[in-house]
Amino acid sequence: MNESGAHSGSAVNDPGANQGGDVTGLAEDIVIAGAGPVGAVCALALRQGGLDPLLLEARPENAPLNDRRTLALSYGSRLLLERLGVWSQITQATPITRIHISHKGGLGRALLNAQEEKLPALGYVLRYGELAQALMNALRDTGVRMRFGVQVKNTNTGRQAAELELNGESRDCLRTRLAVIADGGRGETAAPAKWSHDYAQVAVVAEVKTELPHHNLAYERFTPNGPIALLPKDDGYALVWVNAPGEAARITQLDDATFLAELHTAFGGRQGRFLSVATRGQFPLKLDYRGSEAGAHVVRIGNAAQTLHPVAGQGFNLGLRDAWELAQSCLETAPESLGSSAQLARFAASRRRDALPGMGFTDFLVRTFSTSNPVLHHLRGLGLMALQALPPARHFIARRMLFGKNG
Ligand SMILES: Cc1cc2nc3c(=O)[nH]c(=O)nc-3n(C[C@H](O)[C@H](O)[C@H](O)COP(=O)(O)OP(=O)(O)OC[C@H]3O[C@@H](n4cnc5c(N)ncnc54)[C@H](O)[C@@H]3O)c2cc1C
Repeated sequence: MNESGAHSGSAVNDPGANQGGDVTGLAEDIVIAGAGPVGAVCALALRQGGLDPLLLEARPENAPLNDRRTLALSYGSRLLLERLGVWSQITQATPITRIHISHKGGLGRALLNAQEEKLPALGYVLRYGELAQALMNALRDTGVRMRFGVQVKNTNTGRQAAELELNGESRDCLRTRLAVIADGGRGETAAPAKWSHDYAQVAVVAEVKTELPHHNLAYERFTPNGPIALLPKDDGYALVWVNAPGEAARITQLDDATFLAELHTAFGGRQGRFLSVATRGQFPLKLDYRGSEAGAHVVRIGNAAQTLHPVAGQGFNLGLRDAWELAQSCLETAPESLGSSAQLARFAASRRRDALPGMGFTDFLVRTFSTSNPVLHHLRGLGLMALQALPPARHFIARRMLFGKNG
């Protein structure tokens, strides 16, 4: 294994600068930029498989992990976290055993059921902060090398290695056979998207309590303004209420009583009255597909590779599968071939087979279910009725949502 720590030197802006057979200044085999859940899962799987990645994270080491963002984890992602020994450390995950899908103002509904899939749950709802903390503990226990307060500013590719320009506490550069960009897509290394669509929608998120207990039932209700998702979380629901940007801004500012009354009008009375609302926030929704290819010796995973609309709960789970599959690919590759174009082309092709159908499905749902077009409204109802009447169709959709291309 190579020596740990950074190789000092000036930034190489010429992509050809690393070309040639000499790899003697190489400091690392694998460097991962971003210790969010995706980067952390990749580092953990690599370390547990016997490799020695270096994980770089922009935030300071002791920054509190109190991100209250809600994540919907599929059953397939649970299996992955189990294999890494992380799942048992998560104490506050609420199972989703059924998903009720309907659309406002029309007939037709469908119910996905874990029992039908012979699984204990279709998925789980948990806090980003809790998952991040469990992963951080596992990284420390497994001895993954981490450097905090280090921001990757730029990535230069070359025939033998990639060079990462860092700008943190130690202003330096690192050469590595494989640079893994897992910065959530918001970092300075973000490349232009190959496929992009701004839905002109904003998700209003909050935690709400309802009159009736949730019994682990999630709702996905389509309205002409956008979908409303209620995900069972602890003794209440995590709400994702999608609207046009102006409407979302208005809703976010409403006093609690008016917010709950308007939510009742939009969602209906299936859970009785809405009793309380807390921790409101909002985030804009768009589709961005960059893919994993980022040049020689550099690869993107997680939200750095793709950002999806949350309607089908696919984005995060896709990111975890990116991380797992990249780690398996590295473990099957000879050390001297890490980051080679052959390895990265195989990985990219495999990830495309998983990501593109999931993205197409999500995009289809958003476009056909967020419209008041009367013909589409009618077809939507028929589609939901057909889904309910045809168990094989339900089974197909459930398996794709839970396990991606392996479903
Ligand atoms: C409000 C909100 C709600 C969401 N709800 C859901 C949901 O219900 N279900 C779902 O499946 N998905 C949801 N998502 C999406 C989900 O959060 C992402 O899919 C997931 O966080 C992606 O993980 P990641 O590790 O790729 O990126 P991130 O979680 O963004 O982590 C990236 C990490 O990289 C670090 N970093 C950034 N730039 C650099 C750099 N230059 N150098 C070094 N480190 C860097 C960051 O500090 C961070 O720790 C939601 C997203 C948002 C914003």
